Amino acid sequence: MQTHQYEALIVGAGGAGLMAALYASRGVKTAVISKLYPTRSHTGTAQGGIGAALGNLEEDRPEWHAFDTVKGGDYLADQDAALVLAEGAIEAVIELEHLGLPFDRTPEGRISQRRFGGHTSGFGGQPVRRACHAADRTGHMILQTLYQQCIKNEVTFFNEFHVVDLIRNGDTVVGVVAVNIDDGELHVFHSKAVLFATGGWGKVWEITSNAHSLTGDGNVITYRRGVPMQDMEFFQFHPTGIYKMGILITEGVRGEGGVLLNDRGERFMERYAPSIKDLASRDVISRAIYLEIQEGRGIKGQRYVHLDVTPETVNRYLAEAGESRRITGEDVEAKLPDILDFCRTYLGVDPVREPMPVQPTAHYGMGGIPTDLDGRAISDENRTPVPGLYAAGECACVSVHGANRLGTNSLTDLIVFGRLSGKHMVQYCQGVDFTPLPDNPAGEVEAELERIRKSSGSTKPYQLRAEMQHVMMDHVGVFRTAEGMQTALDTVRRLKEKYRTDLVIDDRGKRFNSDLLEAWELGCLLDIAEVTTVSALAREESRGAHSRDDFPQRDDEKWMVHTLAYPTPDGEVRLNHNKTVDLSLAEKDERFKPKERVY
Ligand SMILES: Cc1cc2nc3c(=O)[nH]c(=O)nc-3n(C[C@H](O)[C@H](O)[C@H](O)COP(=O)(O)OP(=O)(O)OC[C@H]3O[C@@H](n4cnc5c(N)ncnc54)[C@H](O)[C@@H]3O)c2cc1C
Repeated sequence: MQTHQYEALIVGAGGAGLMAALYASRGVKTAVISKLYPTRSHTGTAQGGIGAALGNLEEDRPEWHAFDTVKGGDYLADQDAALVLAEGAIEAVIELEHLGLPFDRTPEGRISQRRFGGHTSGFGGQPVRRACHAADRTGHMILQTLYQQCIKNEVTFFNEFHVVDLIRNGDTVVGVVAVNIDDGELHVFHSKAVLFATGGWGKVWEITSNAHSLTGDGNVITYRRGVPMQDMEFFQFHPTGIYKMGILITEGVRGEGGVLLNDRGERFMERYAPSIKDLASRDVISRAIYLEIQEGRGIKGQRYVHLDVTPETVNRYLAEAGESRRITGEDVEAKLPDILDFCRTYLGVDPVREPMPVQPTAHYGMGGIPTDLDGRAISDENRTPVPGLYAAGECACVSVHGANRLGTNSLTDLIVFGRLSGKHMVQYCQGVDFTPLPDNPAGEVEAELERIRKSSGSTKPYQLRAEMQHVMMDHVGVFRTAEGMQTALDTVRRLKEKYRTDLVIDDRGKRFNSDLLEAWELGCLLDIAEVTTVSALAREESRGAHSRDDFPQRDDEKWMVHTLAYPTPDGEVRLNHNKTVDLSLAEKDERFKPKERVY
């Protein structure tokens, strides 16, 4: 078995991993391990933009950005983290510009900005232009820019290496085990510090905007080695996925003036969010769409509504609102080229002339590996760091997004906290020696992979996956009840049992065995589905993306706390609700105190 040694190891080559790698590599010997070729990471699909209060088109301030983040997160966001995000965002975007990112420009040559859901001026006033963007390909540009910078900085890349285990010696994290996808061989990576930046886990649900690879590996690998998962009950459904396919239609469409319409042609968000309408936060809009559908006002009675960005409709509403701005077909073509392309290709619908059919789609995990502001993973409610372990990006939970993330704040999170983590890794690695590897560090995971490879039951992984995705969509989605979630939990536990005892895969070989690795990923998805449902059942209130029919109110008395989920030795999930939410901004400023969210 080959063993490699690097001071800093980064697992994942999306925006968070590459930003951390760039900073770590400035001080210590750094390698990035990624199951995908780096520029295929999901960050590359991010369309709408990266939020930063640059104030290029109108007045904006970081405190307003922090306020929106806290309010959008339904007050579960740690407020110290929200401020670090909002203040760090400005420097982060300018840094990306200096690294070569080709942002869209205003006529004066400044970075162009557009509106996005939940981003306002003056502590919850009117929508503000805060999303910096490169057409509707912002994430793609971030990824290309950072990858080139990492190459320039001589970061070593292990591409198409699939990490399957974390190695600890006592408490200390000393490396990871990975499969080289090409030849199926296991490799041991020995390090002083490991950062997970493995992205999201939308594949737990049936309709999702997420790529095939988003199976929550990092969260489960660390969880199985005793690190908790935080706030997993909060999973965001984006309101506008393409009907039945889930492919994302960016909120940027509504930022440019697009509106949601029901079967009667009503702009129904006027009823649910009278002031900010189609730019309310995502949880609010997803619920509104569900209710419209439930009450029979889906288009032709079906399970979708229309998203309309045709100049005729947009200009009518702009005129009604007394705005002087008008848009043309050319504007839509220039600002949303990829969206038009998707709709024309996959739907045969031309959004310049007709509305798009949309439904809520599983999009973003607010929870994850709990970390402090330097990206250090923490193990308990006292915020005790796990020596040598870091996390950043979607797989981490700082927690800056609380119960619901605002659009454009994930890209900001990747850059701001990716950078802080990379910096801290340098400091940490320079202060410690390598801790030795334990004996046979790959033994356990090798046995598990061999079990899957040789399994001879009767159930194929895709059968288990489909049943899990279906039950999670029905019962642990936009609306939840105790009864439905219990059904989901019973099903997931039955599927886990089958996974252990009755699995079979077709490919027993070594080379590019995606059958084997996808079966391993399914094990991760099942663990995440279980932790999500157990966490959601316990939280008897509605907050942000967690909306319960049987507990419709937010309960600040009891539930201003984070959820920490731990594995028990007998394979159960143990919850701890003693980690309180940071309210440091509210202590100084009344406006940050939890109150009802009105849009
Ligand atoms: C369609 C879509 C559009 C979006 N648009 C926006 C937007 O406009 N603005 C915004 O702020 N946010 C947006 N988001 C959210 C945002 O893009 C993601 O949250 C963010 O890009 C995640 O970045 P990341 O660096 O954490 O992980 P990712 O970019 O998902 O990268 C994960 C990396 O981990 C690696 N990896 C995973 N598991 C393993 C393993 N076991 N072994 C080795 N490597 C592994 C993968 O190879 C990959 O390199 C969007 C998301 C989607 C799905």
